[in-house]
Amino acid sequence: MTHHKFIRAEKDVDQLAGEIIKEHYRDTLHKIKPRIDYLMCFAPQDEAGNPTGPALKLHGAPCAATINITSLIHRALGEGDVLVKIDGELWETFTPPQQLALLDHELYHLNPMFVVGSEKVKTDDLGRPMFKMREHDIQIGWFAAIAARHGIASIEVQQAVMIRQKYGQMLFDFDGAGQATLHIVNDQIPAGV
Ligand SMILES: [Zn+2]
Repeated sequence: MTHHKFIRAEKDVDQLAGEIIKEHYRDTLHKIKPRIDYLMCFAPQDEAGNPTGPALKLHGAPCAATINITSLIHRALGEGDVLVKIDGELWETFTPPQQLALLDHELYHLNPMFVVGSEKVKTDDLGRPMFKMREHDIQIGWFAAIAARHGIASIEVQQAVMIRQKYGQMLFDFDGAGQATLHIVNDQIPAGV
């Protein structure tokens, strides 16, 4: 039987995330101190040990990590406030700066809900912090063939032009981006995080 494997992440993942929270989420997560569970996920394998699918999926596509707000029921049963799932195999291939960027990406999705007119975070029946998910600034789902077929009439090319106009300097001219090395697993770049 092939199935996914799940292992609670080592403490160093919590520590890395703690550093990011201290540096970049001083007025939010650093103050609220949610309990965050980090789970390493590993792809199912066939008998020869080859992966039969991705470790993690988001909207049907392989991804490097995901974040979910833990439901009231699971919070009541002892889980944390938030669950971060990470592709455990991919994680091991990441450099420390890449690991930091991935964790920061996931944490950035967390949008604490504040009591109106107050700096107090809203809490659920258990007194635990409530969050909304922050959506991506850029969400990509492109077919190269459609871009080629329809050019500027396609959503693909329109989004590419928009990205270049709005974020071009940051994304494409970023110092070192030209020399960036991508981690490609199973011939696929993880489509999302
Ligand atoms: Zn994301």
